Amino acid sequence: MIALQSKGLPSRIAETIVGRIIPDRESKSSFYVSKESIDGFDPLNSRIDCLLTTSDNAGSIGDHSSITKLPGLGHLSAGDIVSIDPSGLVRTVFRLESHHNAFFVTDRCNSKCLMCSQPPRNIDDIDYHHNINIQMLDLIPRSTEQIGITGGEPTLLGPKLLELLRKSSTNLPDTGIHMLSHGETSQGNLLGLMIVWLWEFLCMRITLQTMIISFRRVTHSLKPSWDCITLRDMVFK
Ligand code: SF4
Repeated sequence: MIALQSKGLPSRIAETIVGRIIPDRESKSSFYVSKESIDGFDPLNSRIDCLLTTSDNAGSIGDHSSITKLPGLGHLSAGDIVSIDPSGLVRTVFRLESHHNAFFVTDRCNSKCLMCSQPPRNIDDIDYHHNINIQMLDLIPRSTEQIGITGGEPTLLGPKLLELLRKSSTNLPDTGIHMLSHGETSQGNLLGLMIVWLWEFLCMRITLQTMIISFRRVTHSLKPSWDCITLRDMVFK
């Protein structure tokens, strides 16, 4: 399994940084992180958002943000996108070589499925992940074939989900967007139910069992629901 996060010693990091991994031609034990393109990147003249290194010092770049004493860099490749927290946590949020990238939007969920492999957490993390995902969208290559939206439950983002979809549509016009959602947040009426059934039919080959589960969801959630977005507002390519 590929490690997707590691932690080192942070320096001069006041807020979460999002940037591309750019090789340091002078050293195999460090990477630059920058929003600039890899082609033509020049450490003397290009903007450096952070330096990642396994060394215990950031060398001549010590006046920039840096993470030192990282346990390893072998899981990172040029063009990957990382988020870097003030705590020193470095997370890979987009792998250039992977066909299974996704915007992780929240650990929250308004369902409690028994079989959930990633039980929801009641934490206020939507703004944190949204900030990273919106910045990622400026860095993801337009040639990306597909990307997912996952959580937790993405519809809990409300208008922020629309913002994410709109910016995805603008920045990645040729990329297929798929979303893992139970759709319950937008259910509260029969029209919503019909749309969910249609969606499930198109995406998953609906069975009688999934129709019953959907119906039970709707009858369970016939209460004031989120009216900013319905499944009809979502654009899937
Ligand atoms: S809807 Fe998904 S994330 Fe939410 S509890 Fe069920 S399996 Fe877990």
